[in-house]
Amino acid sequence: MLRIEGLQSGYGRIQALHGVDISVAEGEIVALVGANGAGKTTLLMTICGNPRASAGRVVLAGEDITGLATHHIMRRGLAHSPEGRRIFPRMSVLENLQMGAAMADPAHFAQDLERVLGLFPRLAERLHQRGGTLSGGEQQMLAIGRALMSRPKILLLDEPSLGLAPLVVRQIFEIVAEINREQGVTVFLVEQNAFHALKLAHRGYVMVNGKVTMSGTGAELLANEEIRAHYLGGG
Ligand code: ATP
Repeated sequence: MLRIEGLQSGYGRIQALHGVDISVAEGEIVALVGANGAGKTTLLMTICGNPRASAGRVVLAGEDITGLATHHIMRRGLAHSPEGRRIFPRMSVLENLQMGAAMADPAHFAQDLERVLGLFPRLAERLHQRGGTLSGGEQQMLAIGRALMSRPKILLLDEPSLGLAPLVVRQIFEIVAEINREQGVTVFLVEQNAFHALKLAHRGYVMVNGKVTMSGTGAELLANEEIRAHYLGGG
């Protein structure tokens, strides 16, 4: 579904990605874990076309999308729930969801809205409330719901657990599993919370300083001594 080959990118003269190779098969949940500043967010943003890759390729469903403008990439079935959620705080929940559907076929809107509100009943209760008045967990639900409104083949999630209480993190990850299992959406997730991410994922990758240093099934990585010491607090 998504193949990243030798990808390099950065910001001006600062190179953040030094040749990244990652693949995500259709129907999988794949997690990328790594410390703050490893380049995880830059990878998702480069997949979405901004910043542009300076070398390497991004292939989505067999098509080379490297260098395409972001809206062209989104139109090909990729949706991104960005770090820090970036919902529109002055717009209502419904309006935020409408923004997510802006490039989708309007004929599907009612059905897609029903599907998203079914996944997130809390959003249904707050449909006319402004986005900015929601709790952190509800804003994360809205960011994921908004991304789903475009009927993506693959959903990119950047740090969905950031700043949320453990119970809310568990709820969000359960819903991500449901989106994958029940709705067949492929998920590529980046997280500093390695424990939850690797428990959820079929496969995972570890990134250090803009390079992938390890990969394996979620269970293999969770059992790995080095990962336990560095990313799971030695537990
Ligand atoms: P976090 O989880 O904290 O976002 P990350 O693994 O996602 O960390 P990135 O945000 O991708 O890491 O950062 C990778 C590198 O690129 C870091 O060295 C960071 O300082 C640098 N960087 C990120 N954004 C910019 C920017 N807008 N301009 C310049 N350098 C940046």
